[in-house]
Amino acid sequence: MARYTEAVCKLCRREGKKLFLKGDKCYSEKCPFVRRSYAPGMHGQRRVKLTRYGVQLREKQTMKRMYGVLERQFRNYFERASKQRGVTAEILVKMVESRLDNVVYRMGFALSRAQARQLVRHGHFNVNGRKVSIPSYQVKPDDIIEVRENKRNSPIFKEILEVAKERQMPSWVEVDLDKFSGRFDHAPTLEEAALPINIRHVVELYSK
Ligand code: SF4
Repeated sequence: MARYTEAVCKLCRREGKKLFLKGDKCYSEKCPFVRRSYAPGMHGQRRVKLTRYGVQLREKQTMKRMYGVLERQFRNYFERASKQRGVTAEILVKMVESRLDNVVYRMGFALSRAQARQLVRHGHFNVNGRKVSIPSYQVKPDDIIEVRENKRNSPIFKEILEVAKERQMPSWVEVDLDKFSGRFDHAPTLEEAALPINIRHVVELYSK
């Protein structure tokens, strides 16, 4: 399956904001963005005034990179969102937030979305008692996500759960870390998700 292969911290520097792609490191002083919050490359420190199109493009790239979704799939989300009744920006957020890899990350069962995607692909999770290994699988309200029993003693989950215990869980999931299990209450609204992105720019770009 296709994926981004560029050094992920460069993506944050290019977008000019923290995208939280590296788990724990993102919250520590080791985060490269803290020291070098300008774009990578020789002309990275040059200030460039973006056109409206440029702003829209940057916001779209940021959102795609945050969720680790490639262009074609991201556009598909938009096409489906725009055909539904309601506010397209909000529906788009609900769709990407309902991806299984994202829900696993939000529940604290992975340190980053990239790690969540890998763990899902390797069959570490059940949804409502059945193994699901498709990162883009759409989780529905009241679905129960759990780490599969034969994976719970893996050293990786020891480290992940230690970090998760210190993390504040989002209001739209209920998690019992001791039971390796969580319930997805609902897909978040724009306000709840509080993303560092102006999603209306993304919608404007794709609506052209
Ligand atoms: Fe971005 Fe995290 Fe790397 Fe910092 S550590 S630049 S937030 S991916």
